[in-house]
Amino acid sequence: LVTTDTPLPFRELCARIHDRIAAFLDAKDVSDRVKSVQAQTRLSLDIIDRALAQYSLPELSLAYNGGKDCLVLLILYLCALHKRGLTNTSNPSSNIETAVQCVYIQDAHPFSEVEEFVTQCIKTYSLALLEYAKPMKAAFADYLRDTPSVKAILVGTRRTDPHGEYLKHFDPTDSGWPKFVRVHPVIDWHYVEIWTFIRHLNIPYCTLYDRGYTSLGGTTDTQPNPALARQPSSSQTTQLGAVNGAVNGTPKPIFRPAYELEDDYEERLGRDR
Ligand code: ATP
Repeated sequence: LVTTDTPLPFRELCARIHDRIAAFLDAKDVSDRVKSVQAQTRLSLDIIDRALAQYSLPELSLAYNGGKDCLVLLILYLCALHKRGLTNTSNPSSNIETAVQCVYIQDAHPFSEVEEFVTQCIKTYSLALLEYAKPMKAAFADYLRDTPSVKAILVGTRRTDPHGEYLKHFDPTDSGWPKFVRVHPVIDWHYVEIWTFIRHLNIPYCTLYDRGYTSLGGTTDTQPNPALARQPSSSQTTQLGAVNGAVNGTPKPIFRPAYELEDDYEERLGRDR
């Protein structure tokens, strides 16, 4: 769908993503799982479209940390921007008001792989991303001070995430938090649906997911998901050692890729909190 080599002009990128998603939605004779992802995609596009009807682009932003859920959200957002004719500008990346505004709060101990992926996404998707290295609340306060036009922020939280259970599609922040409306277009996607979408549309994702990480925090509180551990045969160790850091000939647990996990509730088994 997108290459990581030479970024496409923003308008063309969004048009391509839109066309690819339209073809995905049109596909017939697909598995039940793909059908459910088609339904989720339609619903999420509808929610994003409602946000675009309600807010102008300078009023909208996206909370982006390179994770799989906000990656799906970003792709859907670019599709929705094209659908609404909001990408008709010759050089959007040079204009903060028309490029995709994002806020990224860096973990106190970030993975270099996450940092690299976010940097790559800034180039590939023309993100106007502001980065803050401080706790969430202070970071959002600073972001709203630095970008006072922002009134609503798209967030990739899902139902099974901490605090996701009772969220609606549009929610003002809780009292005591910087004031903005949180928009949750992928709130009801299941874990496997996120991966079906990413893999079906061939979207590049952070390399940690291929090494058994299923949800990304920082280096001090995130491990590969133990539910994906396997004891390889020695030939597998040789083939896969480079991927998971195992030494040739020394059998030690290696981890299957994140997309092989099935259960929503096992997603955070590699996270300390
Ligand atoms: P993963 O669970 O695999 O890490 P993810 O980061 O997309 O994927 P969550 O960690 O569940 O999902 O976080 C939910 C959403 O909250 C993200 O999709 C993103 O929109 C927002 N978010 C979380 N952490 C950050 C952060 N550090 N900076 C910016 N946005 C964030």
